[in-house]
Formats: sequence, structure tokens, C-alpha cells
Amino acid sequence: MPIFFDTHAHLDYPDYAPDLAEVVARAQAAGITKIISIGTSLDSSERAIRLAEKFPNVFAAVGWHPTEALNAPSDLRPALREFAKHPKVLAIGETGLDYHHLPSGAHEVTRPTSAIEVGRVTPCAPSAEDLLYKQKQAEIFRQQMEVAAEFGLNCVIHQRTAFDDTIAQMKPFIGKTRGVFHCFGETVERMKKVFEIGSLVSFTGIVTFKNAQNVRDCVAAAPPDKFMLETDCPYLAPVPYRGKRCEPAYVKEISETVAQVKNCSLEELSMATCKTAKEFFQKLA
Ligand SMILES: [Zn+2]
Repeated sequence: MPIFFDTHAHLDYPDYAPDLAEVVARAQAAGITKIISIGTSLDSSERAIRLAEKFPNVFAAVGWHPTEALNAPSDLRPALREFAKHPKVLAIGETGLDYHHLPSGAHEVTRPTSAIEVGRVTPCAPSAEDLLYKQKQAEIFRQQMEVAAEFGLNCVIHQRTAFDDTIAQMKPFIGKTRGVFHCFGETVERMKKVFEIGSLVSFTGIVTFKNAQNVRDCVAAAPPDKFMLETDCPYLAPVPYRGKRCEPAYVKEISETVAQVKNCSLEELSMATCKTAKEFFQKLA
């Protein structure tokens, strides 16, 4: 059976409280042999570490999600440094920038459906609270990349309607830390910009959605050593589970669609994505 990894799961979320051991066992049975549980706050990161201690095939990433930036302590670094020493903490994140829901209620364009829409924002003057929110996101993003660089770790990047700013903030860290732009749903052109700064992308169950041709275009164009697979569970269950609670076992369905799009065998996809993940998340090897 070809094996795959779920490189982005939120196993600490309450969705799994009733049956987590079964969820992990189902992943194993489906050939999903390693799962990275991603922290979204210090508490969530600590829970991810506890899960990594409990389950041999679970690993942890520690970080603070950009949409929760206003709740973050002024300096995340001391706590992250403590976490980063753990043998099963293999990345920092998720971190990044998200301008989709701004405090003022102003909206930046949702999902890019064409190159023309990409990056276009609502033409109104930014409010002071929106600026503060963006500044705080930028500050904790920088702190997290600093810790990643100190510990020789890479970053799990969450980016939504903030692509150019995210790339710009990562540029000073080229050569020190790299990112995986998780749940990639942009254009091929933007994917190339990610590769240009030495970062990677990963694809979720969205690749199986009928309306996600842009994601399949990215899959088709991504070199075999530049992408990984993930669920982002409990969100984004692939077809035929769309709308239900997602879980790491469903990387199987994601891998089947990706292999079809790339016109390669599951064995080839398994070899390429597992190798890429082991190189990117070094403690996974
Ligand atoms: Zn996530």
C-alpha cells in the first residue's frame, strides 16, 4: 500500500475529543503513517505536543495563527523556544498573514478565481483598527520566523488575501528558514513566487472540489519535489466526504485525485511527497 503523510492536521481541536484514538488508528490503516498536528496558539501548541508524546505517528508544529493575533502575548518567542526544544516539534506555525476578515468589517476579495481578481482589495481607506490588526499579525509572524531560524526549523504558513505582504515578510529570512504555504489555492504564477523564495506548497481536499480548477492547475504545474499533501482537518474534507468532519485518513482520497491530475502512479506520488516532507520537516525522517 502506498503510504502518505498528513502534513497539516488540527488533532487538538475539540472535534476529535470523543474518538481521537480511533481517528489516528484509521489514518494508520489507510496508509497515512505520519500526522503533523499544527498549533494555532500556545495552548493549542502545547496540546499538539502532548498528542505527539502519546501517539508515535503524531508530530507537532508550534505557533500562533494570524487571525488570533490580537490575543497573542507581546512576545511569543520565549514560550516557542521552550516548545521548539522538544524532539517531536518539527516546525513553527501555523503563522503568516490573513487580511480576509478585518476588525472594521471591511472585506478584501475572498478567493481568487482568476488572475485579474488576485490581490484586488476593496477600495476604501484602511481604518486604524485594521492597521493595528495587520501590524500585530506582522509582528508575531516575524517573531515566529526568528525562532524558526534560531532552531533550524521551517515554518507552516497560513496566507489569505495577503500574498504579497507574506512573501515580502519572508524575504529577509531567505537562507534562514523556509515555509510551506499550506492549503494552497492561488494561481500558478503565485506558486512560482513561493518557489522563488525557496518555499513549498501543500494541497488539501479542495483539490477534489468541482470548482477548484485553479488548485488542480497548481498541482499539475508543481514539480514533484515542491509540494506535500495535507487535510487541514477537521476542515475541508475531500469528496465524497465534503461538508463532514475531515480526518487524516482522507489524505488517501486527496492522493488519488492528485495522482490523477499529475498522471502518475500512487507509488510515485508517495515516494515524492514523503521525501519532500522528510526534507522539509527534518525531525520527521
Ligand atoms: Zn490549519
